[in-house]
Amino acid sequence: MRHLLAAACTVGALSSICAAQELEPGDANEELGRLAETARQDASNLSFEAFRDSTPFVEETGKYYVNGDTPIRNEKLLREFWMRNVANAPPVPAGEVPEFAIITVGGLDQIWTVRQRHALTYCVSTDFGSRHGAVVAEMEAATSAWEAVADLQFHYIQSEDQACDASNEEVLFDVRPVNAGGAFLAAAFFPNDPRPDRSVVIDGSSFTLDPNQALTMRGILRHELGHVLGGRHEHTRPEAGACFEDQDWRGVTDYDAFSVMHYPQCNGLGDWTLRLTSSDKNGIACIYGAAAGFAIDPAICAPAAGTNVATQEVFGPFTLDADQIEMVGSFPVAPGSTFSATMTGTGDPDLYVRLDRAVTQAGYDCRPYTPGAAEACVFDVPPDASEAHVMVHGYGASTASVTIDWIAP
Ligand SMILES: [Zn+2]
Repeated sequence: MRHLLAAACTVGALSSICAAQELEPGDANEELGRLAETARQDASNLSFEAFRDSTPFVEETGKYYVNGDTPIRNEKLLREFWMRNVANAPPVPAGEVPEFAIITVGGLDQIWTVRQRHALTYCVSTDFGSRHGAVVAEMEAATSAWEAVADLQFHYIQSEDQACDASNEEVLFDVRPVNAGGAFLAAAFFPNDPRPDRSVVIDGSSFTLDPNQALTMRGILRHELGHVLGGRHEHTRPEAGACFEDQDWRGVTDYDAFSVMHYPQCNGLGDWTLRLTSSDKNGIACIYGAAAGFAIDPAICAPAAGTNVATQEVFGPFTLDADQIEMVGSFPVAPGSTFSATMTGTGDPDLYVRLDRAVTQAGYDCRPYTPGAAEACVFDVPPDASEAHVMVHGYGASTASVTIDWIAP
């Protein structure tokens, strides 16, 4: 914290940001916007080589880090990032500045599937040594903060702690120490990253924070877990060339200067306790659904229904006798989106899908009817359809698992 504070308050134009901390959020927003634009123009003159050389690179992970704590896994991707966001800054969005923003690719939210979000498994590396117990406890507290408001379940898998690195496939992500030389306190990943990139890494500097200051390991982990859930930094106020806006995001709530997703490295405003604000809580609940006992404030954001969330869920395995029926479920579907039901299993189960009316052996829109278990119904949802009903019928004794991919309207 001390070096961040020092950096934020003594380097050139950044001194204005220290002053800006005394401003009302709206004024501070404007001031940071002005500084950001200056910084962006300065940075846009950098050649790729100059940008690369000024970007923190951590040998241990083999990754570059932009926007304070966002990993980029090779030079090819860094060049693409520079081309898109540094040399050619994307236009600043008009209108209200979103505060809690979610990562998107091609217009689709990149978030955990229904199945994954209820079993977000992680391990904590024993390489933390004497700090291991403390990291476990802080992770527990930080995950609880998100679980309290959104329909999410993190699971700590202690039995994987001995082999807790990015090659461990028994967990969705690993938490391990890294020597970043103070380039960042901690760094994380987004839900669409492949397993080798799904690590929460913690630099030694996170363990030597000034106990009299607001920034804590728990706060840092709350912020990093925000990324793990798909949360982006608040975008339009990068400062001093340290943070660069891109267009791979969607705003969920309106601006709030004190979000947990403001990070000291990227934004000198706000409360560095990095607690979840009302906007953060509602934002994540609107994305994943509300936790039991948490009510979404409709004035802040609209719940997940009504967004273009791509969802995948696996049902089964079901064991069926001959002529037995298993109703797999009903799925709200957006017109024009692709719906897919894929079955695997043994014996001869038959897959049935019907739009908007009850699916039966006599009434269906798709029924591959093969002599085995490998069947699929994949189609574009017509303009007037809103719900897909799926069932499996045992033509003979069989087992079946069905993977459904759908996009709610
Ligand atoms: Zn961050």
